[in-house]
Amino acid sequence: MAGYDYDLFVIGAGSGGVRAARVSAAHGAKVAIAEEFRVGGTCVIRGCVPKKLLVFGAHFAEDLKDARRFGWNVPDCDFEWTTLRDNVLSEVDRLNQAYTQTLTNNNVEIIHQRATVTGPHGVRLADGREVSAKVILVATGARPDVPSCPGHEHGITSNEVFHLEALPKRVLIAGAGYIANEFAGIFHQFGSKVTLINRTDVILRGYDESIRDRLLQIAMMKGIDFRFHAEFRGITKDKDGCLTVEMTNHEPITVDCVLFATGRVPNTTDLGLENAGVELDAKGAVKVDEDSRSTCPSIYAVGDVTNRIQLTPVAIREGHAFADTVFGGNPWRVDHENVPHAVFSHPPMAGVGLTESQARQKLGSVKVYQSDFRAMKNVLAGRNERALYKMVCDGVTDRVVGLHMIGPDAPEILQAAAIAVKAGLTKADFDATVALHPTMAEELVLMR
Ligand code: FAD
Repeated sequence: MAGYDYDLFVIGAGSGGVRAARVSAAHGAKVAIAEEFRVGGTCVIRGCVPKKLLVFGAHFAEDLKDARRFGWNVPDCDFEWTTLRDNVLSEVDRLNQAYTQTLTNNNVEIIHQRATVTGPHGVRLADGREVSAKVILVATGARPDVPSCPGHEHGITSNEVFHLEALPKRVLIAGAGYIANEFAGIFHQFGSKVTLINRTDVILRGYDESIRDRLLQIAMMKGIDFRFHAEFRGITKDKDGCLTVEMTNHEPITVDCVLFATGRVPNTTDLGLENAGVELDAKGAVKVDEDSRSTCPSIYAVGDVTNRIQLTPVAIREGHAFADTVFGGNPWRVDHENVPHAVFSHPPMAGVGLTESQARQKLGSVKVYQSDFRAMKNVLAGRNERALYKMVCDGVTDRVVGLHMIGPDAPEILQAAAIAVKAGLTKADFDATVALHPTMAEELVLMR
């Protein structure tokens, strides 16, 4: 470490940065980590965790209704947003403390400031202090991208949504990715009137077509209003605080809240990366090789800032591989193939591997098996919502190359099945497994 203040300086204490810092320190490195907002990063503070807690909260709307069909005398119940909001925020505080404690226990120095890069081994802190490190890890994540229409400042993003003063009676959500669809489900279940607008007529681009079509059909049936080919013209704030949104191809709409879920951009603006010759791609993401090394040999980057797959477990794994490789004498690389993913919509979706159309393009010969069914619980509850499981197989080898599902608990079920897909198992292997009855998961081994 001769001549440097630290072996490793990590910029950003989110999923990737915390794991990399902790493991590198455990390997004996002298580590500091800078965080400009809160330790834990997007996932813990304003992403996966608070979002999933709201999803749980939202589900009670249906569970309470269904309970009556199962014999429970449930009186009409009111939902109180502030109670759920405050409980969720205190859980976030607890996790923020736990992450801080983990770093401290591992002798990682936490610097609660913004940091920027001044050169291949140099970092400047917001208070003006300059420090040096043998290796710098950029783990600054991504931030919401907001369209630059007139009045966009009246809207909020996922950063603010967890702090709303009151539940909006009418909410307009812009975007059609997973965050937009998850919040559409959450607000709808809480009783808000939800309108989702999108520039194209495709939701959840990149997800399997049949599964996303099923979500659209169910969401419309539930009463979520979708407006397609709608681009923002502007947002005006009326005297009473309501927001009127003008868009292409549709009538204006007045709502109480506009939520932008229009994509996330890597956090590389004004980070000083040009001082070290770190190259960015066209979307502003740090260009890295398979070892997460940037075009500057002493600077690495992991997680959303590299825009490979923007998911927490991927950022964590990239941070861990970096630490073991650079400081642990145990080099390994993250395999970005067959990463399972989920959308915590109502009902949820989950998938792993190639979609049907990706498989047809890549392999030519493809066999598809499906199970289109009504979950037993939904039948008794009188809930007319069908689940859909889809298995995509290589037509020549019978190998399962993709598995996609929508239905109750789909993400919980898919995680186990993803092991089989990752292991390269065939349809015959699934068929050879006896069904576990009565479950929804048994459809995985009964598909025709
Ligand atoms: P982050 O966790 O974003 O951490 C980056 C940190 O760097 C931040 O704390 C930031 O404040 C800090 N920082 C930035 N610049 C500087 C600087 N110059 N100096 C100091 N600090 C800086 N993923 C899933 O896997 N499952 C989900 O269900 C899921 N749900 C999500 C829901 C929402 C609403 C959002 C927004 C994201 C969700 N994600 C989900 C994505 C997940 O949160 C990210 O993939 C993950 O947090 C990326 O980790 P990271 O370490 O790359 O960045």
